[in-house]
Amino acid sequence: MPTSRKRLAEWLRDAHAAEEQAHSMLTGTAGRIKNYPEFKSRLNQHGEHSAQQADRLKECLSNLDEGTSILKDLTGKGIALGQTLSGIVVGDEVVKAALAISTFAQMEVSSYRILVAAAETAEEITVAQLCDGLLAEEVEFLDWLDQQLPSLTKQYLGREDAADVTAKH
Ligand code: MG
Repeated sequence: MPTSRKRLAEWLRDAHAAEEQAHSMLTGTAGRIKNYPEFKSRLNQHGEHSAQQADRLKECLSNLDEGTSILKDLTGKGIALGQTLSGIVVGDEVVKAALAISTFAQMEVSSYRILVAAAETAEEITVAQLCDGLLAEEVEFLDWLDQQLPSLTKQYLGREDAADVTAKH
């Protein structure tokens, strides 16, 4: 089998692990947030969407010849960056969570750009199209998140200055 196809399958598996991680990270963080309703709601929405993205990647892998054996060890293969970041997100502070989620989303954007190129190299046009769609979804989420950072930070600091309200989450 050509190495490019094997790599493609491995990287799809990594992307699948990242989406599963995104699902638990985003819904877990959203569950702890109380005072930032718009942020909470969008994290929940994207978290649920990440589970669907993971399913699409899994189906895509099962359609690749090389994917069949790789599918067997799908679970527990979270990539190192994701594992590191999920450690940060366990923290209790909304600004730190936003920073970590933004960094994770940026990693996902870059990994889908890599996957599109890998799929094109392996002449897997359907896979390239799927990854291009996932790329667009992650770019949209990342753009939204980055636009929220200034107002979220100001809101957080404002709440922290007012002694009688909870700022952290
Ligand atoms: Mg996602």
